This record gives sequence, C-alpha cells and structure tokens, in this order.
Amino acid sequence: MNIETHLDTSLEYAQLMDVNDPLKDYRNQFYIPQHDGRDVYYFCGNSLGLQPKSVRDYIDVELDDWKNLGVEGHFEGKNAWFYYHHHFSEKLAKIVGAKPEEVVVMNTLTTNLHLMMISFYRPEGKRTKIMLEGGAFPSDYYAIETQLKLHGYDWKEHMIELIPREGEHTMRTEDIIAKIQEHGDELALVMLGGVNYYTGQLFDLEAITKIGHSVGAKVGFDLAHAAGNIKLKLHDWGPDFAVWCSYKYLNSGPGGPGSAFVHERHSANPDLQRLAGWWGYDEEKRFLMKKGFVPMKGAAAWQLSNAQVMAMAPYLASVDIFNEVGMDALCEKRDSLTAYLEYLLDQSPNGYKLLTPRSKKDRGAQLSILIKKDAKKLNELLYKNGVTADYREPDVIRVAPVPLYNSYEDVFHFVRLLDECYTNL
Ligand SMILES: *Cc1c(COP(=O)(O)O)cnc(C)c1O
Repeated sequence: MNIETHLDTSLEYAQLMDVNDPLKDYRNQFYIPQHDGRDVYYFCGNSLGLQPKSVRDYIDVELDDWKNLGVEGHFEGKNAWFYYHHHFSEKLAKIVGAKPEEVVVMNTLTTNLHLMMISFYRPEGKRTKIMLEGGAFPSDYYAIETQLKLHGYDWKEHMIELIPREGEHTMRTEDIIAKIQEHGDELALVMLGGVNYYTGQLFDLEAITKIGHSVGAKVGFDLAHAAGNIKLKLHDWGPDFAVWCSYKYLNSGPGGPGSAFVHERHSANPDLQRLAGWWGYDEEKRFLMKKGFVPMKGAAAWQLSNAQVMAMAPYLASVDIFNEVGMDALCEKRDSLTAYLEYLLDQSPNGYKLLTPRSKKDRGAQLSILIKKDAKKLNELLYKNGVTADYREPDVIRVAPVPLYNSYEDVFHFVRLLDECYTNL
C-alpha cells in the first residue's frame, strides 16, 4: 500500500495500515508503559527507547555466569567478558554502515566525544576553530567549549556556529557548505549532530564530510539522534569519527553505554594523540602489563576500561532486534509513519507548524511541533491523557513515532488527543 497516494484521516485507515505493516509484530517484543490500565501512546523513543522484553534474559546470562564462574567468566563465560565489546562489532557495524573494526561500545557519549576530540581536534597555526550547529545539544557545546579552553583558546572566538537564515528554522546544505568554505583555512574540526535534537533536521553528512575534508578540516558527528533512526553509511561517507549514545533509538536503557566510530584510515596510526587506558592496549599482549602504550587496531584502541558488561547486555539485546529487522525495512516504515503523522497534523484545524524539514531525506522519525499556546501545559495535559511526548523550552513538542514499536493507530490517537487537549487549553 502506498501511503502517499491513499492518506486518509479515519481510524479505519490507521488500523488497516497496521494490519498491512510488515513490522507490526515487533511491537510485541517491547514493554509499552501503562497509564490507567492501558498502553501509553509513547512518542519519546528519541529520548529513551522502550525496553525490549528480551533484555532480562541477556542480563540473566551475565548474572548466571558471574554467579557460577566468578572471575573465570572473563574467558569461560557464554559471552566471554574479556572480549565482550567484540560481540557488538559486526552487529553494530551493520546499523551504522561501518566496518566491524571501525566501531566500539564504550563509556558514554560525552566521554567519547572528548576522547575523539583529543585525537581529532589538533589545532595548528591558523587552523584552530571548531564549527558546530547553532542550537546543538548542551553537552556538545560544553565539550567543545572546554576542549577549546584545554588548548588555551578563547572559546567564543574559536567556536563557529551555523545559524539558519532569517525566518527559517533549519539550515540549508548550501549555506553549511558556503560557511565551511568561508572559514576553510581556520577550521580544525567540523562537529555536527547528525540529526539535530531540537528541530529533527538530518544534515547531509556525506556532503558535509566531503567539503570539510576538502578545506583541510577533520569531520566528526554526534549521532545521538541518528543511530538506529537513520540509514548511515559511515565508512563510505568517511567522517574521521562519530559518537552516539544507545539509550535513545537503540533502546539500551537509561544511561546505557556510548559508542564510537573511527574511520579505518586512522585505525593503524599509533602516532595519534589520545588518552589511553589498558583496554585500548594490544589485546594479545595486554596481560604482559608492560609500560609504553601499544594501541589495538581500530576504534577499540580508544577503550579505557574493561567492558561494562551489565550495562552493555541490554544494548546487545536491542542490537539483535535491529539486525533481524534491518535498517532498510525500518527506515521504510519510519518514513511512512512519520509522513502519516505529518499528514494528520496538516489536516488539523489547529494549524500546527513544524520546525522539522518537510522532506523525508532531511529528517528521521522525529517531528518537532511549534505550539502557539502554552506548550508546557499542553504536554502536561497530553500526559494526563495517556500520551508521552516531549516538551522543550519555549514552545516545542517533539514527537517521534518509532518504527520498531509505534503503530499507525498510536499516531492516529496522538493527533486526536493533541487536538482535543489543544482546544481545551
Ligand atoms: C542525548 C544527547 C547527549 C547526551 O549525552 P550523554 O553523554 O549520553 O549524557 C549528547 N549529545 C546529543 C546531541 C544528544 O542528543
């Protein structure tokens, strides 16, 4: 069924779309939070993904091995803990379009962003500045500010922000390219969010990487809102690094571990500056406990500590679901579900405005709705009516229909309740 040609505002239509949805059964693999004895209409998978029902089994495996094997679990466990990060390599590489050696699960997002900037923000001579998108996530701002300070720079002078044109909410690719060219010889690093957390805009990561490299800068991405949401081709697009968290679209649970991508071209360079720990040391010789750091090949060289197995187990559970579904099928449903949400919002007499780009190539699952009334109150009212959405200062409600577990009927009821609550405000 082709949604673009048959869109319709009836409940029957949503139900029919659900019946015909090839991914419909995956909803049953997740726990849906409850409100007044029934499933919440959950649209916050971009903030905290829902719990896969399989998570408990994945954790139980590790609890049992710990109970029965103690320290031997490092080598004798079902998922030998010594190699625990290896269990992700192939699977995670598929989700972000990388080679297995280019990805690693470790630490948390902001920690990894710092580790990557230690290696790939190497100011020299006139080339000292970092470009980011205006309205980036605060942690990214703080990380960049303090990296600049670490090198002794006035951070306000060395941070270049991309700002939309007057009257527009999102950046045009042509403007990003022009700005990179304009600042070409003073740019040390271009570091953007893949999908901006506030507007939901997906940047043209391939074009930005190409132009960034052509002016001689390094390029890195914060994929917190892109990993598990966008079909990425990190290896082919070729940024120097990327980082992401796993608790948003990737459903690893609150505070779940971060991940990093380092392009193959850097994988065997022992001369890169880095902050190292023993888990980044050549695995074969790690237990010789020698002085003098010898990095592993690939992204694993940036590991500091041994794997946080209990925190990583839920991530593994979720990654297995992603691999079963595949990013192609997931993105197909994502586009259809988000287009349906957009259509219903457009049909509403309340005249909602969107911050998010209208073209599916410029966004993922999330739509950010600009609310002309009191958005905070509206979100509270929605919550009382069994809808979990996300209010952001000062006037935005973010909604992410997640293809793994949201249904067309969820979207239908969301817009129905949004309209009701908006009218009653
Ligand atoms: C969610 C998010 C973070 C959160 O960082 P943590 O280190 O995981 O707490 C950082 N940056 C962006 C862009 C985010 O969306």
